[in-house]
Order: sequence, then structure tokens, then C-alpha cells
Amino acid sequence: MNINDIWASAQERLEKQVSAVSFELWIKSLEPVDFKNGILYLSTTSETAKQRINNLHKGEIFVAVTGSSDEVKDVVILDPVERDAYRQNKEIAVESENRKFPGLNNFNAKYTFDNFVVGNSNKYVYAACRGVAEKPAAMINPLFVYGGVGLGKTHLLHAIGNYINQNYPDKTVIYCTCEKFINDYVNALKGASSFSAMNSFKEKYRSLDVLIIDDIQFISKAVETQEEFFHTFNELYENGKQIIIASDRPPKEIATLQERLRSRFSMGIIQDIQSPDYETRLAILMKKAQEEGYLIADEVVEYIAEHFDTNVRDMEGILAKVWFYARCLCKKSADMEDMKEALKDHDFADRQNLTIDRVVDCVCRYYSLRKDDLLGKKKSREFALPRQICMYIICDMLNLPLMTISNHFGKKDHTTVIYARDKIADMLEKGEHTVKVAVADIKAMVMKN
Ligand code: ADP
Ligand code: MG
Repeated sequence: MNINDIWASAQERLEKQVSAVSFELWIKSLEPVDFKNGILYLSTTSETAKQRINNLHKGEIFVAVTGSSDEVKDVVILDPVERDAYRQNKEIAVESENRKFPGLNNFNAKYTFDNFVVGNSNKYVYAACRGVAEKPAAMINPLFVYGGVGLGKTHLLHAIGNYINQNYPDKTVIYCTCEKFINDYVNALKGASSFSAMNSFKEKYRSLDVLIIDDIQFISKAVETQEEFFHTFNELYENGKQIIIASDRPPKEIATLQERLRSRFSMGIIQDIQSPDYETRLAILMKKAQEEGYLIADEVVEYIAEHFDTNVRDMEGILAKVWFYARCLCKKSADMEDMKEALKDHDFADRQNLTIDRVVDCVCRYYSLRKDDLLGKKKSREFALPRQICMYIICDMLNLPLMTISNHFGKKDHTTVIYARDKIADMLEKGEHTVKVAVADIKAMVMKN
């Protein structure tokens, strides 16, 4: 059943149910906007009309539309502002579907330079990315971008790809995660007629104009792939092709990275991306709300910008949740009540007073160790393993600079912390049971404290 049929049949029923005046005044002027995922969206002509309808006739409308077709599960009344936001939002979604590039080009059209908010924390990285997009292989090569999770690295990589596709349509650009590169390589090695599989792998990666590789830190696990990546890198570089790499840490902190790759990465520019400051966070949130068509009170946006200060992805998650709760109650815009609701199922409250000390205390309790011993220099396994687990958990749960963590353990540089973090991560990956249990238990203690 199409949307107009649904609404026509519901109107027929409503005409019999409500008074003639109400029908003329409120029902007749409703306009069907969309029917999606079982929800019928209707728009009023004004905000007041929406309030009246929700107060007086929501129940009747619900019964009429859900009764008119099995496919209809719910009805949402929008006022004109919400209707426009809804439509705009839908257009953006449709557009990004259409703009997905065929073949090799797999850029997410949602991520562009235009919708990347620039502030002090990311202005250099933004400039570098724009630079390579505008003049590939001319100024900065390779570009190595690093920073913590959810700070916009992947966004910028896609923005570069989208920009080059639009402005240099004859250049071949590919975005690929490090894992994809490793998989492709391993599959080529395993290929039935290995020779041609390997040839087509090489052809694919070595014939590009621009290679964008995300999350390169994962290459530390794949020694053979490093070898192949080194050759790919050289061939592209020597032929004057652009290479862009992103990582969650700088090259010198990627464990087991071949020295020659490390030095290749350092030939161009290595640029970090920091957590955004308050103003930038606020701007990111407002842009997001606008893009998604969320209507959210200023104080809520300010609250989020104030309290979620390290990771843009988390910030966006909570924003979406707040809007969701407001929608559940058919509110025009989300307020602090919805904020409270959204925070309930978020571990944010606990995270707020999550500190290094708290983790240290929990590890001491778990292993019955004295704090001095845990933080000290004793090297025997009974101290060393808990100490490494402690460092790992701090890295994992707290978004802190490595130097801060190192200083807490009386270290002058951060190699010990990196070593501990990677070692425990490795043990967890290999499924070492006692370590796995300890980490899970201690994390639970930390969260409960
Ligand atoms: P990373 O790859 O660094 O982990 P992402 O690029 O996936 O992070 O970013 C996480 C989310 O935050 C994405 O939805 C991205 O669009 C958004 N984001 C991060 N920084 C910004 C920014 N400065 N402006 C707009 N959106 C941002
Ligand atoms: Mg990413």
C-alpha cells in the first residue's frame, strides 16, 4: 500500500470518529510526508496544530493508520520545521547512497572536508590533508596522520578520497584498511594459481595514483605483509604517487615495525590530531545535529560538549541517544530530561571519576600487592605481570597521554608502557586464560568502585 492510500483510508475512518469541526481543522490539513520502517510520518501546518493534534487526536490517528494496513506500526506527527529537517536529512542519506563510487573507489560520501569542523586541535592535520587532496604527490608525501580513537582520522581520509574523485576524476584512488591490505595479500599468497593471484594483487596496489591506508598500526602483527607493503610503498613513491597513512600512534610507537618502513613513513609529514577543545566540540555537535535533523536544546548540547571531552564518536553517540529519547516522547526538541535518560545507560557517570589511582588500587587489591611494589621497580614476575596488566588497563580504559601514564610509574620515557600494553594485548589475543580473567575482573572492579 502506498503512503497516499494509507492516509486516504485512515482519513475515511477518522471522519467518522472525530467531530466535523476537528476533522476540518486538524485532520484534513495533515500532510503525509513519508512511510518508512513501518512508521507513517504526517506533518501539520504549524507547531500549535501539532500540539493540539497530539493532545486531542493522537490515539484516534494511531488506531486509524495502523488499522488501515498491517504494514503500519506507528505514526509520528511532525511540525513544519521538523518536516523540513526530516526531508533534508533524507536527501542527504539518498545522496550519499547515490554517490558511492563504483569499483575500487569506496569512499563514504558522508565524510567531506566541508563537514569537518576545524579547531586548534586539528587545524594542522586538516591543512595537511587538504594539501594532499588539492595537489596529490606535489608537496607532502607520504602524509602520516596519527591520534587517538574517534578524533576524525578516518573522516579525513575519506574526505581526501572524495575530494580527489571529484576534482581529479582520472586519478585512481583507493582507501583500504590495513587489515584489508593484509587479507588481500594473504589471499593472493594462497591463491589457486598463486602466480597470477599475486600479480593481480601487485597490479591493483602498485598501479594506483593515490593509496590511502587506515589503521596501519595493525601491520605490526604481519611481518610478511610488511615486506610487501614496503615494496608497494617504494614503487608508488618512486613513481611520484601519493601515499596517505593513518594510525592510532606515531611510527616510533608501532611495535615490531621494520626500521626501513619506519624511516619511509618519516620521509613526508607526520601530523598528530588532538582531542578537540570545548568550542570545537560544541561546533561539531551543532553540525551533527543539523546534518541529522536532530532538534536539541542548547543546554543539552553544551552539557555534552562539557562532559565528553576526549572522543568525538562518543559525543555523537550520546547526541543520537538524547534525540532518540526525545522522539520516544514525541517531544519537539530534546531537553535535559532526555539527557538524563540517555546517561542512564551509559557508563559515563563511572568514567568521570576514573583515574589512574583507581585502577592501581584495584590491581593491588586483586593481586594483594602493596602499592609501592606495584609502582616500583621490582622485576620478578609476581610484580611485573600485575604491573603490565595495570598499564594495559590504564591505556585501555583511560584516554591519557602515554607520558602521563609513564610518569605515574616513575618512568622517564614511554617505552615500558608501550611494551606492557602490547604484550598484554598480545596475550589476550592469544587467549591466555589467567590474563584474560584478571583483566576482565579488574576492569569490573574499576567500574564498580
Ligand atoms: P578515528 O578514525 O580517528 O577513530 P573517525 O574519523 O571515525 O575517527 O571519527 C569518529 C566520528 O567523529 C565520525 O563520525 C566523524 O565524522 C566525527 N568527527 C571527528 N572529528 C570531527 C570533526 N572535527 N568535525 C566533524 N566530525 C568529526
Ligand atoms: Mg578510524
